[in-house]
Amino acid sequence: FPEYAFIGRSNVGKSSLINMLTGKKGLAMTSQKPGKTLLINHFIINNNWFLVDLPGYGFAQRGKEGRQNIQRIIEDYILEREQLTNLFVLIDCRHEAQKIDLEFMEWLGENGVPFSIIFTKIDKISKGRLQENLKAYQEKLLESWEELPPILLSSSEKKDGREEILDYIDTINKSLKG
Ligand code: GDP
Repeated sequence: FPEYAFIGRSNVGKSSLINMLTGKKGLAMTSQKPGKTLLINHFIINNNWFLVDLPGYGFAQRGKEGRQNIQRIIEDYILEREQLTNLFVLIDCRHEAQKIDLEFMEWLGENGVPFSIIFTKIDKISKGRLQENLKAYQEKLLESWEELPPILLSSSEKKDGREEILDYIDTINKSLKG
């Protein structure tokens, strides 16, 4: 089965998004504590693809060694997993582009890993502000990318973006089957 992995800095709303997508409360636990998700978790969806919950990156609480170990687990999975079809990089729509996210995406590009961006928590800002932030983010991306990665929108709070993300994945799945 093809795998679609979700990654982002801690507190970006990854657990909430995964709960929304899997539709089963408690299947992927949401946490208040940054970086509580430690292992790589797989959820089978519709009996035809795996949703993969990757540990967050970019928080200092665990100390240097812990961070390096986690980094290695993430990197090994991303670089070596044949089934990995697309990686979703979650970005909090309220924040301006962060170096750690941009560098991570550059690393994905260098390694030929297909990825898309999901702007999370879109209920937290106005539509106008969201458009401004999207534009600013795209401009920032264009400094290092010739072609923009797709940016999907989601609000786990308002259950927005669920169908779009699932359809997006379905479309890729169908194209894989030829
Ligand atoms: P994770 O650390 O990336 O897994 O983030 P969580 O899913 O645990 O969410 C972190 C915090 O943001 C929690 O307090 C969530 O309730 C809140 N949150 C997550 N997604 C949304 C969203 O779409 N809208 C709003 N308003 N809050 C959200």
